[in-house]
Amino acid sequence: MPSQVNFGDELVSPEEKTRRVGEVFSSVARRYDLMNDLMSGGMHRLWKDRFVSRVKPRAGEEILDMAGGTGDVAFRMARRGALVTVADINADMLEVGRQRAEVRALTGLSWKVENAEKLSFADATFDAYTVVFGIRNVTDIPAALREAHRVLKRGGRFYCMEFSSSDWPGFSNLYDAYAANVIPKLGKIVTHDEESYRYLIESIRQFPKPAAFKTMVAAAGFARASAEPMLGGLVTIHSGWKI
Ligand code: SAM
Repeated sequence: MPSQVNFGDELVSPEEKTRRVGEVFSSVARRYDLMNDLMSGGMHRLWKDRFVSRVKPRAGEEILDMAGGTGDVAFRMARRGALVTVADINADMLEVGRQRAEVRALTGLSWKVENAEKLSFADATFDAYTVVFGIRNVTDIPAALREAHRVLKRGGRFYCMEFSSSDWPGFSNLYDAYAANVIPKLGKIVTHDEESYRYLIESIRQFPKPAAFKTMVAAAGFARASAEPMLGGLVTIHSGWKI
């Protein structure tokens, strides 16, 4: 772990990054789901549907939804009968999720405060591990990937969805302008917190390119690591198997 890491475009100590990421999500937790709809024009729902159809949750299997936040992905998997542990470092995000699950009368969910870098679960606990728009916020990503591998059973599936830079000519410029100018302003209006949304955009830019992240997934021990771009590369689904 280097002595300085990126918190968005700023270089800070690893401890400071973890603390400040915590502040970002505590600050936006109550308005997090509304902001996702506004920022993406509802597209995040389609991405998550598509992601879950790739994971193919089965009734009764144990899935760890890491950095699960307010539960969006976990709810989709629980509706298919999977037993989902929603784990997140931030208790405020989990609390919003717990309340949303109660309103929806969803079963098959458990909630746990966990740091992805050092999980409390025993080896070979889960059939699948999912992480959606979460891993770029983790300070030590290789450590989180090694933990994902450790807690999966043999034959277990790893799935990660993360933003990536678009390669479509013209589209990437349009997207960059939207991200830099519109999203922090929207964050200011909706959550009264422009800085947190500036961080979220910068963290997308700082995240490794799909090919580099695929190499990191393979380095953690996963077989058949792959990166599947969606929507011209705006979002990428990464996967791997524990053999
Ligand atoms: N997966 C959810 C979704 O797609 O709506 C939430 C994604 S949200 C952008 C990122 C989440 O990552 C936040 O809830 C944050 O607390 C969590 N997070 C950041 N660092 C983490 C870490 N080291 N361990 C576990 N969760 C972490």
